[in-house]
Amino acid sequence: VSQGIRRPFQAIDHDEICRLYPPAPEYYDTAWFDPPEVVARKQFNRLRIRADAARKVPFYATRWEEAKFDPDELKTLDDLARAPTYSVEDLRRSIESNPPLGDYHSLRLEDACREPLRLFMTGGTTGTPRPILFTQWDREVGSLLVARCLYMQGVRPGDVVLNSWLFSTHNGGDIFDKALHTWLNCTVITTSAGTVTSSERQVEIARAYGANMITTTGDYMLRLAEVAQELGYDPRQDLSIRALPAMREYREPLESIFGLKQFDVYGFSEVQSVAVECPAHDGLHIFEDAVLIQIVDVETGEPLPDGELGEIVITDLYKTGDCHFRFNTHDLSYMYPPATCECGSSLRRIANFAGRADTMVKLRGVNVWPEAVGAIATAVDGTTADYFVTAVRRSHRDELICSVESDRTENHFPAIRDAIAKRLKDQLGVVIDVRVVPLGSLEEDMLQTTNGPAMKRKRFRDDRHGASL
Ligand SMILES: [Zn+2]
Repeated sequence: VSQGIRRPFQAIDHDEICRLYPPAPEYYDTAWFDPPEVVARKQFNRLRIRADAARKVPFYATRWEEAKFDPDELKTLDDLARAPTYSVEDLRRSIESNPPLGDYHSLRLEDACREPLRLFMTGGTTGTPRPILFTQWDREVGSLLVARCLYMQGVRPGDVVLNSWLFSTHNGGDIFDKALHTWLNCTVITTSAGTVTSSERQVEIARAYGANMITTTGDYMLRLAEVAQELGYDPRQDLSIRALPAMREYREPLESIFGLKQFDVYGFSEVQSVAVECPAHDGLHIFEDAVLIQIVDVETGEPLPDGELGEIVITDLYKTGDCHFRFNTHDLSYMYPPATCECGSSLRRIANFAGRADTMVKLRGVNVWPEAVGAIATAVDGTTADYFVTAVRRSHRDELICSVESDRTENHFPAIRDAIAKRLKDQLGVVIDVRVVPLGSLEEDMLQTTNGPAMKRKRFRDDRHGASL
């Protein structure tokens, strides 16, 4: 009966995985210190294999033919820039014309007997979720990359960890579970989100079992800290937390509540976590054995020099199922010039996520991103981490209104507003209309339900077409 079935444990060779992609902690003694020429050789060899896989996939075959890109012409890593990029819009069109999966997969569901598969979907804060097919190899290596990040964040083998990601069609909850269990020997307690296990109960479980980390979103971590305080606990003394999840906007309050440093991470559903901050906290090192990152101009798509802000284009080097060959994420960042970091690693670094290219607003010829506005505004004294940016059109001109919550009394608002407006003008070179509002005022604007791993807060609304002021 079992003839023709290759079971998941038979589909992969763990020794081979560890040789090609060393897991933490070994990774941080070995490949982390690979010199640039070793990295380049690994990347090129793996890139050739990925190009050969991608050319057999209809989605790439068609696009490459149209762009007259021949993968046999890949002679150096720089040649990769000649392959066309694509983005979520192209994937959406692929799904619409070939439902339900699209034509961008290397495998079909019928292949599952010989190549065990998992199907997850992207969060899809806008538009239709995209299906992603994972082979057993992709799940193993993908979770290994996530485990490298967790280790850098402070998780140690044998730790107890609460997994508070919402389990759903998204792979967020599952990949953390697998990373912690398979690659770090952690005892995972799966609580899922607050809608599944109440926040009070999550805090009590974390306390009772001495959880060393709660893996979840930054804002939910902050909520759990508040709940712990409401229950009469001191989050720093009464919990055993030693590692914080990546949280960006909630970095300051959480670092001060727990007395820990946060380590930022970059990644997304299709490739998992692919870059992490090191103890120098100066940019995110890319896992260059697993992915290749390029930064391109938002308007022309051409590769940009180091240090210039543009869109992250990613090519995976490790997968065996779906290919991601020059995927333009529309996420904004810039590449650090090649250098050996304070931590000793020469792996290339990207800057922390700077926003989304598709929410860019052009103000008097200057490209402005709501996330960048928010980051500057909420760094001013007297503000909280919550802000909301609206684009409006007034007398045929595009304007941005940045509303920021303050926990001070209202008599302080004018001074805070002026300080924010000045800083925005100094740093962005354009005038932005600033409003300071009391705590809780932006709740309604920010609330947004997604089918992603957790509730995400919305930070931007475009009122230029339709609503007017
Ligand atoms: Zn470093």
